Amino acid sequence: MLLLLPVLAWADSLPLPAGQTQVLPGPYMQLWKDPQGDSDFQTVRALPDSAWQAVGRRDASFGYDSSTYWLRLDVHNPHARALNWVLLIGNPLLDQLDAYGLDGERVYRSGDQRPFDWRWVEHRQLVLPLTVAAGEQRRIWLRMQTNGSANLSASLMTHEAFDHQEQRSLLFQGLFFGALLGMFVYNLSIFCITHDRNYLWYCLFVASFSLYEFIQLGFAFQWLWPNALTWQQLSFPLSSALATLFGIQFTYGVLALREAPAAYRRVAHSLKACAWLVLVMALLGPYQPALIASFVLIVACALAAFVITLLRWRAGYAAARLFALGWFVLISASLASILTGTGVLPYSLLTLHAQQIGGVIEMTVFSIALAARIRQVQEAERMAQAKLITQARQLSSEQAKHLELQTQISENLEQRVKERTAALEETLQQLSSANLRLAELNRRDGLTNLFNRQTLSEELARACARAERSRQSLAVLMLDLDHFKQVNDRYGHLAGDACLRHAAQRIQQRLRSSDLLARFGGEEFVALLDSTDLTGALDLAEQLRDDLARHPCLYQQQSIPLSISIGLHAGIPDAPDCGESWLDLADRALYRAKAAGRNRVASYEASTLDGA
Ligand code: GH3
Ligand code: MG
Ligand code: MG
Repeated sequence: MLLLLPVLAWADSLPLPAGQTQVLPGPYMQLWKDPQGDSDFQTVRALPDSAWQAVGRRDASFGYDSSTYWLRLDVHNPHARALNWVLLIGNPLLDQLDAYGLDGERVYRSGDQRPFDWRWVEHRQLVLPLTVAAGEQRRIWLRMQTNGSANLSASLMTHEAFDHQEQRSLLFQGLFFGALLGMFVYNLSIFCITHDRNYLWYCLFVASFSLYEFIQLGFAFQWLWPNALTWQQLSFPLSSALATLFGIQFTYGVLALREAPAAYRRVAHSLKACAWLVLVMALLGPYQPALIASFVLIVACALAAFVITLLRWRAGYAAARLFALGWFVLISASLASILTGTGVLPYSLLTLHAQQIGGVIEMTVFSIALAARIRQVQEAERMAQAKLITQARQLSSEQAKHLELQTQISENLEQRVKERTAALEETLQQLSSANLRLAELNRRDGLTNLFNRQTLSEELARACARAERSRQSLAVLMLDLDHFKQVNDRYGHLAGDACLRHAAQRIQQRLRSSDLLARFGGEEFVALLDSTDLTGALDLAEQLRDDLARHPCLYQQQSIPLSISIGLHAGIPDAPDCGESWLDLADRALYRAKAAGRNRVASYEASTLDGA
């Protein structure tokens, strides 16, 4: 029975369907694998029936195998009229597909390694029109060669059924790409507003995934690059690797792997390096290893992302929950798609669209997760703000306290400085008045409190200058107590001192306030009389002498008689001779008064007159 199976299959001819049903012709097909790949149609047609074997599978899938396959299919029209049928080859990525026997001798040549306009029907998939007359038996030959998935995904249906299915399919594809476009625009606008890089990565992820699907479904070749055959070939693994790369980038940011344990980062970085490698492979070729590598990479990345997402979730990263779901959907969908491509899973509408459906679910889940992340970020920001406000409040209260303290300190300091300044000012005041007193004391004689010899010299020079300027007469009197040594000897030195004070007092009493009396030394005094001529001076000297003679000094109930001799000089001074020389002149007159018997007045002028 087993041996007979291929014969039975071969013997069968496929009755073409009418109505809306479609038939998968796989079980009716026979296969001859061209070892060199260079056999022409005539050779293949001439092959004996024994060379052919049954395909056996409904979907005629041969996995990733770049061999050349010849397939032959017998169909017959069981209906009473001719109908237009369509043999639809659902896989638009086949490199080469030729068909013989569709329309007389005309050969149908297509595949994505042939220019798009070679196709009989302008369609993203390979559409082979087939017209069979009523009751007619027809044999069709297909030649297939591809570097990708050698999967025909063939189905047979009437033209009407095809049109009907096509409308549904386009609606579905429109919804699919519309959803992707919506997510792209939505997340791009969020990126423009927030400048959060993760949205950009996500947008690029969506865009490259969309491109991948656009290529896989044949739209890209139909609408974007109908003649760019080399590019069509490499664009498929390229878009896949790009989607993976952006997916890693996006996952890295969204799961905050920067702050995660180093092992996660290492995994992410090595996967990224692999994605770059696949990118380079896709660009430089060869095609098939690049394609297989890109599929392996997708599965590896999806698995790694799934595991890392779960681990992040367990580590308390709440946003990871939705991502885990998204990755799970993507893994399942990708596995389904790849397993269908390799022929492990049978071809069906579900497996055909598994990746599309999975992709939309995944993208939607990610989009929601991103939105949830916005909320999370907002929440974190709100908390950070609240914390910041509390800190600011604390800081400002600290500052207020500090300010208060500072004010207190500066007030205290100010008070102390004021006090110190006042004390200092007082001390300075005291010092300056002490200085003044000291200066005054310096000018006076300690015993009699008259001006001293030093002051006399200064005042004499001043009086001379004044008199000379005003052309007024100045008088200088030199007074000397008579026999004062005897007073000391007889009454003692203390009595002598008292008598000196007494004499000084008596002389001072008689002088004008403008006159100056100084103790010249011992018991000698000098009086300077402003605006006093010789007569006035003689007169005053006489009064002084008389006054002292009549008022003895009283000391300890003793009356001590005193007398004084006075020599004087008066006149309007001339510049060079006034000063100390006038003292000398007055002294000379005094000497004469002493010589004349003491207790008398003598003037220098009179003595010179006497002398003359
Ligand atoms: P003459 O009439 O010739 O002036 O005789 P005199 O004794 O006054 O003159 P002399 O120059 O010989 O003596 C001056 C005396 O004055 C000597 C000294 O004992 C006395 N004498 C000088 N200064 C002071 C003083 O400050 N206190 C006392 N108690 N005596 C003084
Ligand atoms: Mg004397
Ligand atoms: Mg004397």
